Amino acid sequence: MKFGGALMGNASGIERVRELIEEYSCEPLVVVVSALGKTTNALEQLVMLSQDGKDMEIDFLKVKQFHLNITHDLMPQLTNELSTCLDNLFDELWDALNIKYADRYEAYDNIVSIGENLSSCIIFHYLVSFGLNANLISAKNLIVTDSNFTDASIDWEYTSKTINARIIPALENNKVVITQGFIGADKFGKSTTLGREGSDFTTAVLGNLLDADEVTIWKNVPGVMNADPARFPNAVKLDSLSYHEAIELAYYGASVIHPKTIQPLKQKNIPLFVRSYYDSSLPPTSITNDVSNDGAHPSIIVKDNQVLLSISTLNLSFIAEENLKQIFDAFSKNKIHINLMQNSAVSFSVCFNEEPVKLKDFLNDLREDFALKYNTGLQLITVRHYNYELVDELIGNRKIYLTQKSRITVQLLVKREDERYKF
Ligand code: ASP
Ligand code: MG
Repeated sequence: MKFGGALMGNASGIERVRELIEEYSCEPLVVVVSALGKTTNALEQLVMLSQDGKDMEIDFLKVKQFHLNITHDLMPQLTNELSTCLDNLFDELWDALNIKYADRYEAYDNIVSIGENLSSCIIFHYLVSFGLNANLISAKNLIVTDSNFTDASIDWEYTSKTINARIIPALENNKVVITQGFIGADKFGKSTTLGREGSDFTTAVLGNLLDADEVTIWKNVPGVMNADPARFPNAVKLDSLSYHEAIELAYYGASVIHPKTIQPLKQKNIPLFVRSYYDSSLPPTSITNDVSNDGAHPSIIVKDNQVLLSISTLNLSFIAEENLKQIFDAFSKNKIHINLMQNSAVSFSVCFNEEPVKLKDFLNDLREDFALKYNTGLQLITVRHYNYELVDELIGNRKIYLTQKSRITVQLLVKREDERYKF
């Protein structure tokens, strides 16, 4: 099972996590945790400060204090072991921020991965303080990846070996295994990460390699919803969906599960349950091979902070395979994932998430050979199993920058509108 940062932003959130772990601990159990609250964002901010040579102390101390406050709320009597573990991690973070790296993506992974190490250290000691028979196994010793920093790929063969050697014996000794999501190490032992929100994927990898009976992702919503309830008050929970439908929803940006999560589970036919962590007795969303419920409700996925970039040739010659190759190379080199694309005779339009760190370099790579125009602050709305009435209602009278439609899915890129929708 996996617990995300949103559930663990304060001590009472972590208390609830402990109750759930206790509830399920009578069977062999592996628990994957991500960083507490919005720690990963805070660490990303520190990465940027460090790369810009700016002062990091205030932000560093905020991260430190946040973790210390939660720890004190959970365990007013800190054990020596826990305070040593935390002190070491804070030192490691400060050092990681001040090293000169050859590769800035390597720097990112080395710094950001400490968020998960902090959370797992706190949660592990907290569980032990309640008498739980737990074992903390570092994901750096489990998840073996290539060296593609910030978006590393799993080395399945090695990872399978480490899991057999480390997790299986712990489970056989009736230990609850705690490990970190999102992070791993390459074969040189350098920290790597699997892409933002990658803890779900870690959980699926472990589920696959352990032949788990089931995988559960705990959420602060009742399950997979057909829209984000914070934006759409009438959103409903989907009782079941197929692996295929879940992959599509995740791919288009339904933030409830990471897109890579489904494939390893589908491969072994392991059911994925998305459950409310407030109430474990509520029926979850079950994700299995069963397709019978897939079109039951239209699903709406809204992605903010989209950039629309229009790339044209300088002399108005056609955009053809050669130019496209160069453009895609720039995307791949700068690790920017395309959300939507469309081409005309002389221009190629692409929509992607706005990531300031990457955008500048990316534009520089193309500027010499192409005319670039871009809009930022756009919103990408995807509707699966759409109907036109709903689409009209969602768009209102906003300007549409780009549309793409298939039989099941429609995607529209529009100006952001800060008001809440109702549907
Ligand atoms: N902590 C990481 C993130 O926020 C990984 C995760 O939450 O799954 O992206
Ligand atoms: Mg997270």
